[in-house]
Amino acid sequence: MIFLVRSNLQKLIIGLAFLSSLISVINMLFVGSHVQKEALIKNSLEIHENYAMKLADGANSFLQNAQSELSYAADQIGKNWTNTHFQKLELQRLLQQNKNFNSLLVFDPTGKVAVTSENIIELTSQTLQSPGIQASLQTKAPLITAPYKSALNNLIIMISQPIFNYKRDYLGFIAAGIYLKENESLNKILGEHYHKDDSSTYVVDKNKHFLYHPDEKMLGEISKNTFLDGFFELGRGQKVFKNDDETEMLGGFAVIPTANWLIVSQRPVKGALRIHDGLMLTVLFKSLPVTLFLLLIIWGFAWLISNPLRQLAREAKNMKQTATVQRVQKINTWYFEANELKKAFLTGLQSVHKQVGQLKIDTRTDVLTGLNNRRALEFTLAKLTQEKTPFGLLVLDIDHFKKVNDTYGHLAGDAALKELASVLLNNVRAEDFCARLGGEEFVILLPNCPLEEARIFAKRLSLTISQHPFTTIGHLTVSCGIAAWPLHSHNTQELFRRADEMLYVAKQNGRNQVHVAS
Ligand code: GH3
Ligand code: MG
Ligand code: MG
Repeated sequence: MIFLVRSNLQKLIIGLAFLSSLISVINMLFVGSHVQKEALIKNSLEIHENYAMKLADGANSFLQNAQSELSYAADQIGKNWTNTHFQKLELQRLLQQNKNFNSLLVFDPTGKVAVTSENIIELTSQTLQSPGIQASLQTKAPLITAPYKSALNNLIIMISQPIFNYKRDYLGFIAAGIYLKENESLNKILGEHYHKDDSSTYVVDKNKHFLYHPDEKMLGEISKNTFLDGFFELGRGQKVFKNDDETEMLGGFAVIPTANWLIVSQRPVKGALRIHDGLMLTVLFKSLPVTLFLLLIIWGFAWLISNPLRQLAREAKNMKQTATVQRVQKINTWYFEANELKKAFLTGLQSVHKQVGQLKIDTRTDVLTGLNNRRALEFTLAKLTQEKTPFGLLVLDIDHFKKVNDTYGHLAGDAALKELASVLLNNVRAEDFCARLGGEEFVILLPNCPLEEARIFAKRLSLTISQHPFTTIGHLTVSCGIAAWPLHSHNTQELFRRADEMLYVAKQNGRNQVHVAS
């Protein structure tokens, strides 16, 4: 709190504005970043799903094509089942025609190799036990197998078509081996993807064996991703998931219907969001000029708002000075609250000045006569001696005033004192100073008045007083002692003593007379 009190309004407004713009910028970046990330991930997922679909389409055509070519050959072989030479030629033709087939074999219904393409001639007459062959024999239907190690130790998938004679008797099947590691077409379809980033693609069969993987060593291995099963049922989809090495990935999935294989096109989430980091920085930089401009405007407004209050606060410290009122009047209080404050301040200030002025007058005025009192006398004496202004000092005392009181009463006595005061004022010069010291004793200071002139003045004054017709009481006389500064003493106390002495002499000598110190 002490910190706040020491701070000022302008700083507080700027601080508040800065804090609120900071919060709004952070909020904007935070929300913007969140929305951006979501949009990027959504977009990326969409792209990968579509890409997986495209690959699935390509692979599907490839496999359908292979199956229909095998189907044609199976038909031909069925028609010429006894003609081994024809069958050999047929296999050879097919092998040359379709570069995707790495090996071709014809099996009899017992699983024995009847005919082979020339490149695997050593398998002729052998009975092979691989799972693909068993499945073909059992189903007697077109088949695409899961990958397995062939008799010649190649990792292959096998596509087979049953062979029937014209009576629909099952004669065996024709099988094409596709070597997963060597097959160019399949690699081309699955591996040569258009992403030039950290995206990758792999293919798994129903049992999650890798049929295609950028890392050849993974071929034939089993994927540990359990969620893959779900996509076999859905046919396609997208997902953000954790890889085996805990990397957060986003992936698109699509099933190749002919083979029931699943194509996965994936990318680390980090990679997809890399563009986002730059984007947020750009947003920050682009919003910087407007934010700074805003702060500048706020700074200006803070100055405008706080300026009248600051000026008022500064003037509040100078309340004693009379010029404060004029300065406060000049303050431009352009808005309601400041203007009301200024009005209240001015009213207060004027009233204080008036009261202080009145108080000053009160403390220096004799209540009964309105003349100066002892305090004012001391003040004026100090001023005159400080300025080294020579002056004459007259001490006056009413003669036999006790009697006046006794005869006419105290109130009449008071009235006479007041009347005498106005007689004094009427007879002195503007620069002269009249005071009542108390009782019926008065003092007159005559600045720059030579002693002789003071004496003449005192004489004339006492004559005037003696001739003045006072209400109720009639006539009064005064006795007067005179001394001069610095003629008789530099010390004002001493000066008074001298004048009092002269007054005493006047009294002693019969009153109603003036005596000057020598
Ligand atoms: P002296 O000629 O020797 O000065 O005689 P005096 O009677 O004037 O002097 P004294 O000092 O004996 O008495 C002063 C009188 O002045 C006493 C008092 O009644 C009267 N007095 C003093 N102050 C006031 C006042 O404020 N009002 C009235 N009415 N009388 C006052
Ligand atoms: Mg007297
Ligand atoms: Mg007296």
